[in-house]
Amino acid sequence: MAAGGSLSAFRLPPLPTIREIIKLFRLHAAKQLSQNFLLDLRLTDKIVRKAGTLTNAYVYEVGPGPGGITRSILNAGVAELLVVEKDSRFLPGLQMLSDAAPGKLRIVHGDVLTFKIERAFPESLKRHWEDDPPNVHIIGNLPFSVSTPLIIKWLENVSRRDGPFAYGRTQMTLTFQKEVAERLTATTGSKQRSRLSIMAQYLCSVQHALTIPGRAFVPKPEVDVGVVRFTPLTQPRIEQPFQLVEKVVQNVFQFRRKYCHRGLGMLFPEAQRVESTGKLLQLADVDPTLRPSQLSVSHFKSLCDVYRKMCDEDPHLFAYNFREELKQNKSKNQEKEDEESYRLQLPP
Ligand code: SAM
Repeated sequence: MAAGGSLSAFRLPPLPTIREIIKLFRLHAAKQLSQNFLLDLRLTDKIVRKAGTLTNAYVYEVGPGPGGITRSILNAGVAELLVVEKDSRFLPGLQMLSDAAPGKLRIVHGDVLTFKIERAFPESLKRHWEDDPPNVHIIGNLPFSVSTPLIIKWLENVSRRDGPFAYGRTQMTLTFQKEVAERLTATTGSKQRSRLSIMAQYLCSVQHALTIPGRAFVPKPEVDVGVVRFTPLTQPRIEQPFQLVEKVVQNVFQFRRKYCHRGLGMLFPEAQRVESTGKLLQLADVDPTLRPSQLSVSHFKSLCDVYRKMCDEDPHLFAYNFREELKQNKSKNQEKEDEESYRLQLPP
């Protein structure tokens, strides 16, 4: 078959519906694995359209299950679709799809948390980071308990330009619990602004593309679902190591209702806390009485840049963890208390 036009004209032949596939292979959803399926192909088409043009694209679908989204991706004229599914019960149904789309669907029985997509597609797809994104896309509707840790892992990969981003600025279209989708895309000052908003937005352009009501899934989950599209930025908005940004952001948001100086203070050992926090805020030119949700990505950029300089000047600073100090102080206090009560028990 010639490349180009004829590929994009591909349509799957008539097949049993997803509902019939579920019956045929007895694919009842495993509730403990948070399996909620999309059976309506108009809806899966809509999700797939949110990923952009997929003509001749190489697509990595995570958690295909009974294959609703998989069918829509195949009908979008892709060059190749690679799916990774953990639950072996879905493999025969996916094999049926593969037979209906010869040479297009590769099925891997594996775990998306460990699968190495960077080795799976042709090297020739690789683009320079500054170029347009490669024709490689990630699409998926995973259980929420997997999609959130996975996006943190992938954001770290974006920062290092490895993993799925060894191809360049690979785009991702993924589902999350609606509240998580709102956090990922929340703007400065909004109620949903959180750690995830900064971590996603300093590395990617992030768009809440679609909300799907819970009732569209079988069985119906407790919550609605948000489809989020990520495109890595050519230039990250904070140019510091991922772990450093994560540490600053995590410290700030741990006291989300307090002024930001409260959380930032926890970056420093108690003995120098007041002085160092003052210095950090002053050099970064950030108002200490802003609340965490009011800090923009550029505020975080200044804070991370200054904190980095302070870490370079004091090699022990980055390793400092106030929770450790707290634990040590607690055990010291406990020792003192134990000694005290022992002395009280001694005969006069
Ligand atoms: N994408 C399908 C749909 O929209 O109908 C299925 C959705 S269901 C919420 C999630 C799917 O991801 C299930 O098929 C489940 O077995 C699979 N899954 C869960 N954890 C996984 C993992 N770590 N690696 C690969 N697949 C996983």
